[in-house]
This record gives sequence, structure tokens and C-alpha cells, in this order.
Amino acid sequence: MKHFDVIILGAGPGGLFAAREAGRRGLSAVLLEAQDRAGRKLSMAGGGMGNITNRNLSSEHFVSEAPGFCRGPLRRFGTDAALSLLAELRIPWEEREFGQIFCLEPASVLARRMLDAALAVGASFFSGCSVRECLREEGEFRVACGENSFSAPRMLIACGGPACPQAGAGDCGAHLAARLGHRVVPFRPALVPFVMPPDWPLHGLEGISLSAKLSVDTDNGPVFDPCGARSLMFTHRGFSGPAALSASCRWRAGRALTVDFLPEESLLALMHQPENGRQLVRTLLARRMPARLAERLAPPDVAGRRVAELGKKDRERLCSAVHAHRVIPSGTEGMRRAEAAAGGVDVRELGPGMESRFVPGLFFCGEVMDMTGLLGGYNIHWALASAFTAARAMAAQKKTGQCAFSAGNPC
Ligand SMILES: Cc1cc2nc3c(=O)[nH]c(=O)nc-3n(C[C@H](O)[C@H](O)[C@H](O)COP(=O)(O)OP(=O)(O)OC[C@H]3O[C@@H](n4cnc5c(N)ncnc54)[C@H](O)[C@@H]3O)c2cc1C
Repeated sequence: MKHFDVIILGAGPGGLFAAREAGRRGLSAVLLEAQDRAGRKLSMAGGGMGNITNRNLSSEHFVSEAPGFCRGPLRRFGTDAALSLLAELRIPWEEREFGQIFCLEPASVLARRMLDAALAVGASFFSGCSVRECLREEGEFRVACGENSFSAPRMLIACGGPACPQAGAGDCGAHLAARLGHRVVPFRPALVPFVMPPDWPLHGLEGISLSAKLSVDTDNGPVFDPCGARSLMFTHRGFSGPAALSASCRWRAGRALTVDFLPEESLLALMHQPENGRQLVRTLLARRMPARLAERLAPPDVAGRRVAELGKKDRERLCSAVHAHRVIPSGTEGMRRAEAAAGGVDVRELGPGMESRFVPGLFFCGEVMDMTGLLGGYNIHWALASAFTAARAMAAQKKTGQCAFSAGNPC
């Protein structure tokens, strides 16, 4: 039996960074990874170039049953901290639209350097080690992996979620948490393309992409993407592209999407401009969006008429078709196409140091928790910020027997 200060399950960005931060703070850590190498999903991120953080970070960019829970970790570990980490790891970066920060080296290089940084501060790493069981006896966590057994007074579950199973992802971490008594919000695919019903009038427009603004119906009314209008792509089954992927984080089966296909202009105002009065409706629209889409959106009895000929009712019908196209998706492309899984360990059962409120020494970080970022580097940032917070809390707990963020345990 090898003894450590902390056992970390999973070597994604969360587990890797936690191992580094724990080691820097004097904790002995063992990092156990189910796959043959660290950071497999991280290596695929951002089309291989890792969108690892964002200039704009707030609880608005996260979906959870308790989104406010992310504020503490985001305050402790913000954008500048993530950029300092990239600088330390000698990874150049660039800023793209909506404040997205992308690596200028492949994300696989980032994964390797994060592992090296953890090893450099003394962490031990075992790959091919899928932990399915965990014993908790006499205040110690015990796990076995092949011929090796490990024990520690702390365990950090950093196993991620089940999105993208072809990269080896699963829900093992959430199962372990549930067996230790935690509530798990059921996982659902997020950052995933939509599939539309067979009678959707916009089928057949695949290949078209344009800037659009989507809102999702929720119990609290329609919710818009805080990033505003983003690129929307028609696929042969429905919608994809950043606008659709972000909307999918909030979407639930049976709920409607509303799409504004002309988010930067008011069609009503355009129709009131005298110089547009002689234009055909289809021409007015086709100057502002792909002609094939304009033809489908304009009601057939209106498309071929001149703008000036339209009465109030027809103008309203046209505006609603363009600015408020409503559709109830029949589903999404599922976990295989999802970049994240919404749901996970209920964060209301955790303290501010990411520690379980009722299993002392049990910590969580990253996607295994019920905290899902919209598109834009938010999920990797969450993995880093929650790992940083957990590592700080674990180190403070070892040193003082108390949590870093509150007067007493649990953290
Ligand atoms: C194609 C794709 C592109 C993406 N692009 C971006 C992007 O650009 N920006 C962004 O912010 N997010 C992106 N994401 C999401 C992001 O990669 C994840 O949210 C992030 O990696 C989560 O980090 P994590 O450390 O919590 O979990 P993971 O990265 O999933 O790592 C968890 C690790 O735990 C291991 N593990 C699981 N169970 C066990 C077990 N029982 N025992 C031992 N080990 C176990 C897994 O093998 C895995 O290596 C993308 C996801 C995909 C699939």
C-alpha cells in the first residue's frame, strides 16, 4: 500500500493542474489515469488548438442547478491566472472573437507540459489505471489499480463527464460520487448540434452559415447567449455552429428555440425606409442573408411583393418569420458529438473549497461537477479554476486541519 496526501482520479486538465498545484503546496499526490496517456480530451479541444480560457468570465457563462457556485473559483483563478499558466508552460496564445483564448501550439503539447509540470513537483503518475471502487476506512481513501494499492486522507475526483465516449470518456467519477452518497444531476449532452423534426420548413439548407441569435425557452422564460449573435450553420439534420452549440447547453427535450436570423438590424425599420419601398421582399432579405434562406423564410404570398405594398399584418408576419423563427428540436446529436456533458455532481453538496459537505477529504474538480460552460473556453477554464481551488483547500487542510475558505471543516 503506497501512502499519499491525496489521490487524484483522472488526468484531464483538472487532475493535471490539481496535481501540480498540490505538489507546489507540499502535498504528495498520486495521479491515476484510466487511459494510456494524460489529457486525451484536452488534446482534442478547440479543433486541436485548445480554447482554454476567455477574457469574459462570469456565472452567466455557465449552466448548472446552482450557477452562482462558480463565482468563488473564478475569482480565485481568473483569465490572467490561466494566461500566466500558459506563459509558465511556454505555450503562446492568441485572442479570437468573443474574448476566446486559443493556444498557438497543439493542445496535446499543453497536456504533455501540464503532466511534466506535475511530475516536476513530485507527483506520481500511473496510466492505464481505471479506478472503479474506492474504500473509505479510518479516515483514509483506498483504491487499487492492478498490482498497486494507494491510500490517502484525501481524494480528488477529476474524472470528467461522459461526452465524447470515443475519447474514452465515461461517468465513472459520478458513479463513485453517488456511491459515496452524493446526488448526481443526470448527465445530458451539451455543446452539441441540434436535430430538427422531419416537418421543419428549413430542411435542405445545409451548408448555409450566417450570424444569428438564439434563445432557449426555460422555466424562467427565454434565455439568450450572453455572447450575443454568433455563427449558426445549417446541417443536413438541423443546426450546428457556435450559436447552436452554446444554446444546446440550456436546452431540454420538448423546449423551443427562437432564432433571430437578422440580429443586427430591424426588418421593420428597414421596411419603413422610403428607399426600400420599391424593392421586392425577397430582394430586401437576400441582400442581408443567403438568398436560399430568404426564400424559405418569407411567407410565399409576401416574398414576391414590393415592400411598400405590405400592410401592417404582412409586415408583422415577415418580421416574426425572420426575427423569431420558432422550432422545437426533435433532439440533439447525442453524447458522441457532444463536447461537454451538462449535469454531474450536485455542487450544492460541496463547500467553497470543492470538498464534500458530508464526506471529509473528498474533493471534486472539472466536468464531473454540475457546472457546464458555454462555448468559448469556459469548460477548460472551469477545470483549472476548480482544480486550483481544491488544491489550495487541500493544502490548507493538511497544514492547519482547517479549510482555506471557512472557519472550520468541511471546506
Ligand atoms: C472534441 C472536444 C473539443 C473540446 N473543445 C474545448 C475547448 O476548446 N475549450 C473548452 O473549454 N472545452 C472544450 N472541450 C471540453 C473540455 O475538453 C472538457 O470540459 C475538459 O477536458 C474537462 O476537463 P476534466 O479534467 O474535468 O475532465 P477530462 O478532460 O474529461 O479528464 C478526465 C480524465 O479522467 C479519466 N478517468 C475517467 N474515469 C476514470 C477512472 N475511473 N479512473 C481513472 N481515470 C479516469 C479520463 O480518462 C480522463 O482522462 C472539448 C471537448 C471535446 C470532446
